[in-house]
Amino acid sequence: METIHTVAWMKQVASAARRDERVLGLVPTMGALHEGHLSLVRAAQQQCSPVVVSIFVNPKQFGPAEDFQKYPRPLDRDRALLEALGVDYLFVPSIEEMYPAGFRTRVVVEGLGDRLEGRSRPGHFGGVTTVVLKLLEIAQPRFAFFGRKDAQQVRIIEQMVGDLNLDAEIVVRPIVRDADGLALSSRNAYLDAEERAAARALYQSLDAVRRAVARGERERTQLLTALRKVIEQEPKVALDYAEIVEADTFEPVGNLRKTSYVLVAARVGQTRLIDNALLEPAGESFLVTL
Ligand code: AMP
Repeated sequence: METIHTVAWMKQVASAARRDERVLGLVPTMGALHEGHLSLVRAAQQQCSPVVVSIFVNPKQFGPAEDFQKYPRPLDRDRALLEALGVDYLFVPSIEEMYPAGFRTRVVVEGLGDRLEGRSRPGHFGGVTTVVLKLLEIAQPRFAFFGRKDAQQVRIIEQMVGDLNLDAEIVVRPIVRDADGLALSSRNAYLDAEERAAARALYQSLDAVRRAVARGERERTQLLTALRKVIEQEPKVALDYAEIVEADTFEPVGNLRKTSYVLVAARVGQTRLIDNALLEPAGESFLVTL
């Protein structure tokens, strides 16, 4: 595996791959890699060569009161994990490399980013789209791989790619979970033992929605009541938001009809976690994927 630190060299590698008609796959991450990230890498390797993994803790997507400083950066460990998987290139630009003095541009997808995560984390999605557009321009991937864990982020990135006629195709992969259901996240490392146990409530709240849907419940308010009941039983978990939105518009549903997401965000101690389930119509019923 070759580690690349500069934009110029990453562009050279990408241009050479394109010239040789190779199918470059990009997996953008903020590092502190876990099985969720590695599942994206494996998916990329199935379909692409070379595979580039980027690790960049992007300051523009953190709010002033958020965890940018303390975000974990175990780079040697990450490098070893990627090396073991046989990744071709690791792109780890510095902040100055990505945002040199005088940088002034911000990419904003209107509408989709002003609610849910966007409302709880003002400016977050503008930071995400700005860095993702840069990464897509720098690495010029045919395919870029993202996790459904960040469902709103994926929807916004897909919108940007379409609106700006970008060449990359966005591939969305399932959520990888721990044995007890908790979605893997780099932020899970912040949880102490009690918080880790309590964090399971996020998964369980989505599972409660799944069971309600299986019973035939279709009404948004009823489904969210089932979700909230589970969260409220866990004193260490404070709900930030819970919502059911249509997958294409990210507008709250009335009754469940089309492909939708149940989205949940909550604080466990000081740590903010998100999770979601995908609801897809399947004949008379719905297929619910956690
Ligand atoms: P991050 O490092 O948190 O920016 O995440 C990098 C990519 O990994 C994003 O596309 C995430 O959606 C994805 N990801 C994070 N956690 C998971 C997970 N548990 N399962 C699948 N993908 C994930």
